[in-house]
Amino acid sequence: MCGIVGILGRGPVADQLVDSLKRLEYRGYDSAGVATLENGHFDRRRAEGKLKNLEARLKIAPLQGHVGIGHTRWATHGRPTEENAHPHRDCRGEVVVVHNGIVENFEDLRQRYARGPFLSDTDTEVLAHMLATRVEAGDDLLDALPESLAAVEAAEGSWSCLGLVETNGHQNYRNWEAMRAHLPTPSAPWTRPNRGVFELDADYYARSGGVFAPLPHHEALCGLG
Ligand code: GLU
Repeated sequence: MCGIVGILGRGPVADQLVDSLKRLEYRGYDSAGVATLENGHFDRRRAEGKLKNLEARLKIAPLQGHVGIGHTRWATHGRPTEENAHPHRDCRGEVVVVHNGIVENFEDLRQRYARGPFLSDTDTEVLAHMLATRVEAGDDLLDALPESLAAVEAAEGSWSCLGLVETNGHQNYRNWEAMRAHLPTPSAPWTRPNRGVFELDADYYARSGGVFAPLPHHEALCGLG
């Protein structure tokens, strides 16, 4: 059973992701990886074997992103290699995914949703392609997840998937105004670009961008509303 973590931080999160994965080591794993979002693009480090191998990679090539996800893998589809280690991404690198479980119908989904070549032998990678297709169509990630997962036949048992999507707001989303309306502070100045840039002021950081506030729209999507 693998481990999945995600961190939204105020400084670089790669080391904290690895520390969090260490707490899940009791589950057993064969490889590990982390991805963070930095200057509008994802970067990832992955390694076969123990977390110390991933730590060595990060020491040579650190990640600076303040938002990230991490994974320890227990291979079910594809050998325990670096190429098969999570996070996986769509071929444009716009969505990264870590996943715990088995996508039983991944071969069928690969036929239907491939946006380009697959770079791993895993059942997981197709999830990134599926999510990227929905995001490109204008969904935000929280809308894209249930729509994409509805097509997945998961193996019996527990199942989880954590995705990150790169965003520059209005530059990436046709429905940015609708998405902005779902924010807890839709009129905050930092939700509006100024000469193409979202200026993140003290108010933004004091509120953590609103990400910890309950969002009625997202709660409704999760069946909590
Ligand atoms: N089925 C996925 C894979 O083989 C995820 C395995 C896991 O739960 O770690 O990559």
